Amino acid sequence: MANYILLVGVQGSGKGTQAKLIVEKYGLLHLSTGDLFRTWNTPVAQQAREIVNAGNLVPDSITLQMVKERLQEPDAANGVLFDGFPRTVPQAEGLDELLKGFGGKVDAVLMLNLDREVAMERINKRFAEQQRADDTPEKAQKRMNDFYNVTLPTFNNYYRPKGLVIDVDGDQSVEAVSAEITAALKQKLGK
Ligand code: AMP
Repeated sequence: MANYILLVGVQGSGKGTQAKLIVEKYGLLHLSTGDLFRTWNTPVAQQAREIVNAGNLVPDSITLQMVKERLQEPDAANGVLFDGFPRTVPQAEGLDELLKGFGGKVDAVLMLNLDREVAMERINKRFAEQQRADDTPEKAQKRMNDFYNVTLPTFNNYYRPKGLVIDVDGDQSVEAVSAEITAALKQKLGK
């Protein structure tokens, strides 16, 4: 049966690196809503791009519509690793509904934990090394505030009571984080 896994972590937590390793290992589709908003050319994604460029969260209805469209593509059939989604309770509820339609459910939530100060240090280092013209320290700060104020409480309120959250210490080497994730998923999914 297809597995649906959520990966959550603040910018700088190593989420992107771990996402790549997980999808390779389990043959999942990596569904990053941020990437979809940046690159997809469907009308709904284009509608969202202005909001994303301003550094704001996209409304739930638009986000859910886009995820729904992406889940209907054939490469989503083997299971999905969601990255950057859901970010709000209505999105989490909407995801449950969508997955029901595919005969599935959220199987595990991987939470990559990192202190705010450490995350900020990593992000500042990244900025110093490679300045992206479309990004600024102010936007990064706004995203970080959104993460701690909106995304993290959503996960703790919605998924933690369901026993789905797997806490992973993000303040370790890439290899150590990956090993922790592999062991936890083996226990949770039996593979
Ligand atoms: P990310 O690549 O996950 O940092 O996302 C980049 C931007 O895309 C965010 O700052 C939001 O503007 C938008 N975005 C991505 N995912 C979501 C989501 N689940 N809900 C609302 N907005 C989102």
